[in-house]
Amino acid sequence: MGRRQTMQEKYKIQMKAYRKKKMKVDNTPFLPASEKVYVMNTLDPTDKIKAEVLKTKEKDHRLTITSLACPKCGEPMSWDSKWEAFTCLKHEKKAIFEIVKEE
Ligand SMILES: [Zn+2]
Repeated sequence: MGRRQTMQEKYKIQMKAYRKKKMKVDNTPFLPASEKVYVMNTLDPTDKIKAEVLKTKEKDHRLTITSLACPKCGEPMSWDSKWEAFTCLKHEKKAIFEIVKEE
């Protein structure tokens, strides 16, 4: 019985570490060379919208986008690693903006 508990505990610790590691993964998008960023509202997909980059951060000698202006209300949005998108909660309907690659 004691051994079983140990195994369970071990598993729990491993899962905790795994989740922590997963959460730590930084998937913030890089700023394209053109510095033009286009987004699409995931919940209301229409055409791609040009978004204004508000803040960038240097990472591995490149720039990542840490803040984008919401195309709907203009408020700054930050990166949501869980959604892999920029999200805005400043209006009635939550907006999730995915980055769209420029063609
Ligand atoms: Zn907004």
